[in-house]
Amino acid sequence: MANKTLMTLCLLSLFYMVKNDPQNEFESDVDGELCSNIEEERKHLYTGPDALQDSTQTCTKRRKSRDTKSGDHLIRSFEDWGFAADQLLLQTFPIDPERKNYVRQVRDALFSVVEPTPFNTRVKVVAASDEVLQDILDLHPDVVHEEMFQAFVSGNTVLYGSTPLSHRYGGHQFASWSGQLGDGRAVMLGEYVNRKGERWELQLKGSGLTPYSRRGDGRAVLRSSVREFLCSEAMYHLGVPTSRAATLIVSDDPVIRDQFYNGHPKKERGAVVLRLAKSWFRIGSLEILAANQETQLLKQLVDFIIKQYFTDIYETLSEVDRYLTFFSDVVSQTAEMIALWQSVGFAHGVCNTDNFSLLSITIDYGPFGFMDSYNPEFIPNTSDDTGMYSYQNQPDVGLFNLDKLREALAPLLTEQQRFQMTKILELYPDIYKTKYMEILRRKMGLLGEEEDDAMLAAVLFKMMTDTKADFTMTFRQLSELSLNQLENATIPSHLWAIRTLQPHEYFTRWLQVYSQRLRHHKEDNDEERKARMEATNPRYVLRNWMAESAIRKAEKDDFSEVKLLLKVLQNPYVKQEEAEKQGYGSLPPEWAKKLRVSCSS
Ligand code: AMP
Ligand code: MG
Repeated sequence: MANKTLMTLCLLSLFYMVKNDPQNEFESDVDGELCSNIEEERKHLYTGPDALQDSTQTCTKRRKSRDTKSGDHLIRSFEDWGFAADQLLLQTFPIDPERKNYVRQVRDALFSVVEPTPFNTRVKVVAASDEVLQDILDLHPDVVHEEMFQAFVSGNTVLYGSTPLSHRYGGHQFASWSGQLGDGRAVMLGEYVNRKGERWELQLKGSGLTPYSRRGDGRAVLRSSVREFLCSEAMYHLGVPTSRAATLIVSDDPVIRDQFYNGHPKKERGAVVLRLAKSWFRIGSLEILAANQETQLLKQLVDFIIKQYFTDIYETLSEVDRYLTFFSDVVSQTAEMIALWQSVGFAHGVCNTDNFSLLSITIDYGPFGFMDSYNPEFIPNTSDDTGMYSYQNQPDVGLFNLDKLREALAPLLTEQQRFQMTKILELYPDIYKTKYMEILRRKMGLLGEEEDDAMLAAVLFKMMTDTKADFTMTFRQLSELSLNQLENATIPSHLWAIRTLQPHEYFTRWLQVYSQRLRHHKEDNDEERKARMEATNPRYVLRNWMAESAIRKAEKDDFSEVKLLLKVLQNPYVKQEEAEKQGYGSLPPEWAKKLRVSCSS
C-alpha cells in the first residue's frame, strides 16, 4: 500500500466531500379539485398576450374526482387538462409592460410576456416520458396522439387564458459577469397543480425568439433536444435532483448551426422539449436584481422563493432570520447536488450561475457528459478551453457560484448578517466532503464509518486514474464480486472494468484491505451487500456515444434508439437484455473517444 500521507494528500486533492440536509419538499396535501365550470370558455385557441388581463381569473377545467388506484385519475383527453386557476408568478411579480417581441434590456420586471413562435412545417411528437405525463401532468399517455396536444407541446398554440412568460435573469459565465441573459429560447407556459397538490412550471425550450434571445435565434436543434430530454430523465432515475422532460417534438424547420464553431454551418432540424421544474429560478435570477439595485424586487423574489419552496423556514422563522437560513439551505443542497453529480461521473459542462438552480436541481442540459474512463480532468464541453468546468472542478465551482449568491443576497442583510453569510459559506467544503464520502461508502458497500474509508476510496481512484478504468462499470462490477472473489483476487473475465484495474501494483493489496473492511460488519451478509451496491451503482448512464448513436438515427427520422434509451435509463440499476444487446453495459466503442460536444445547441 502506498504511503499513507501521500495517499491522504491525493485523496484531499481528488475530493472534497457533504452533509445530507433533508431535501426540500414542496408538496402539499391539496387535492387537485381546483377549477370549476368554465369548460365552455375553453377553446384551446391561442389568445396572445392580451390574455394577461383575464388570465388570473380564467382557469381551465380539471378532472372532478380521480381514483388513483384504478388509473382513472389520468386525464384521457387533452381538452380536459388545464393550468392552475392561480398562476403565482404572473400574479405576484411585475411584468415587463412592453408586449412587442424584440431583443431588449428589461428593468423592474422578472418576466416578459412572449408567445412561442409557431413552426412553419409539420411537427411530430417523437418521444414522450409516459411517467412524466402520468405522474406529474395527470395525463394518459395516449394524449400524445392528439393534434391539440401536439400543437401545445410544440408552441404552435397556447391554451386559452394562459400567458407565456420568458424570465429575465443575469449570470456569471465562465466567472465573468455577463449582465442580462434571460430565457433566450424558453418560455414558461404556465403552472400546473397536479392531483398530489404539486405545483410544476412547464417550459418549452426551443420555441423561438424572446426579448432575451440576444444574438440567438431562439431555437434548439434536434441533437441538443434529444440530449436534454434523455438526460433529464436519466438523472432523475439516478436519484439526482433535476428538471424533468415530458415530450420531444421535431419539425422540419431549418435551424442553422456551426456545431464546432469552425466555419462549417449546417442546416439542422428545429426541435422543442417540454420541460418541467418546481421552479426555474436560478442564482442569476437574483444576481441581475442585485446588480441593477432593484432591491425591492430582489426582496420580493427572495421572499416568494422562501415562502413557496422553503416552507419550513417561512413557517418557523421571523423575516429577519429567514435569509440566512435560506442561504444555508441552498449551500447544503448545492453541495449535495454536486456530490451526486460526482458520484455518477457527471459533468454539467456549463456551470455558470445562470445554470445553477436556487432549488439545487440540475438544469439547462447542454454540453454535459458522463465519464467513460475515469479522468478527474474530464471536460465534456469542447468550448471550455481552460477546463474551468472540468469534472474535478465542479465542487469548487459550486463554491464560487454560492459566493455569487451570497453577494446577490447581501443588499437584504445587515452588516452582521453579511458576516454570518461568509461563515456559512466556509462550511461548504466540509458539507460537501461529508456528503460525498457518505455516497462513496454506499457505492463501495461499506457499513458504518471508519477513518480509513477515505483512503480506501482514494486508492481505488488512484488505480482507476492510472489504468483509465471505466468509472461507471468499475463500481458496478465491484458490486458483482463475492467476498471470496475479492479476497482471492479471482476476477471473472466478463468483469472487464475490474480487469482493467488488475495489473495495477496496488490492486491485490487493495482488494485485501477492502474485503477486510467489509468483514468488519459481522451482521452484513454478502448477498445483501451486493444487492445494496447494485442498487447504488448504475449499470447504465447516458454515455456520449449512446446519445450520439440515438441522435444519428433520429436525424434520419428513426427515433427507436431514443425511445429505447429512455426505457433503459428509467431503470439504470437493472440489467436489461435489450440494453446489453446494444452494448450499453460493454466497454465503450473506440469511436466514443473521438466524440466532442460543444455549446452549440
Ligand atoms: P445556455 O448556455 O444554454 O445556458 O445559454 C446561455 C444564454 O444564452 C441563455 O440566456 C440562453 O437562453 C441563451 N441562448 C442559448 N442559445 C440560444 C439561442 N439559440 N437563441 C437565443 N438564446 C439562446
Ligand atoms: Mg442556461
